Amino acid sequence: MSRPHVVDSVAALRARIRDWRRDGQRIAMVPTMGALHDGHLSLVKIALERADRCVVSIFVNPTQFAPTEDLDKYPRQLARDLDMLAAVKADLAFTPGVSEMYRAGFATKISVGGPSAGLETDFRPTFFDGVATVVAKLLLQAAPDFAIFGEKDYQQLCVVRQLCRDLDLPVEIIGAPTIRDAHGLAMSSRNAYLDEAELQIARQFNVILRKAAAALAAGAGQEETIAEASRVLVATGFQKVDYVEARESLTLTPWRRDRAGRVLAAAWLGKTRLIDNVEVPTA
Ligand code: AMP
Repeated sequence: MSRPHVVDSVAALRARIRDWRRDGQRIAMVPTMGALHDGHLSLVKIALERADRCVVSIFVNPTQFAPTEDLDKYPRQLARDLDMLAAVKADLAFTPGVSEMYRAGFATKISVGGPSAGLETDFRPTFFDGVATVVAKLLLQAAPDFAIFGEKDYQQLCVVRQLCRDLDLPVEIIGAPTIRDAHGLAMSSRNAYLDEAELQIARQFNVILRKAAAALAAGAGQEETIAEASRVLVATGFQKVDYVEARESLTLTPWRRDRAGRVLAAAWLGKTRLIDNVEVPTA
């Protein structure tokens, strides 16, 4: 299995994509921050079901990290990532440095409203501006037909859809289901921070959210159900719960019983912040 070709400049990315376009090929992009796992690889597989070529970007985007967050210790392991991408036949890895993405004097910020309100934004107020700006750049650089984003970062997926709709970006955004380990823990590059005891607790996260979603589906009151889920998270060993909320799946406005819903949560285990979300089951 050969590793994907690697480019680290926008010019080289565009040159390669121009060649593919000339041959009439359809192109999909999977933006990532690297430290790849099976969740990321599932996005590449979905990309290649739709497109002839898949570009994976690997860029730890500094503008979406607050000064207090884990930018410096975020795992970086390019050689391993390229081996993993070879296994799923990704065609091209785009690995720009910070100065390629943010040239000296960079002064533009994209701010998306709508689904960015609340949830993550209450705790990471500049996060989605950073995400929207870098995603807009990546989509303009590669100009793919499709871009694949995971439901694992559900609010981010909604923000990216809004961004593309509002700016008329000519790309179809595909949402991909969350890949979980055998215990239901959503795969995440940040799971690498967890020690064995924390991992055991982390595995209860999805169980607790699923129980809350099932209770809501069965008619339990929203306020009590959410409060109970928060209480159980803390009783299980999470030190702090940033939020547990039920939201409407498409718009992320507060959930109403007659609408498709999603329970979304963020909670801390030691110094690690985990997020997850599950669907409110329908009858
Ligand atoms: P990240 O590298 O964490 O920025 O994630 C890159 C992309 O992979 C995003 O679209 C994430 O939503 C997606 N992703 C991360 N973890 C998972 C997972 N467990 N299942 C599916 N997609 C995922």
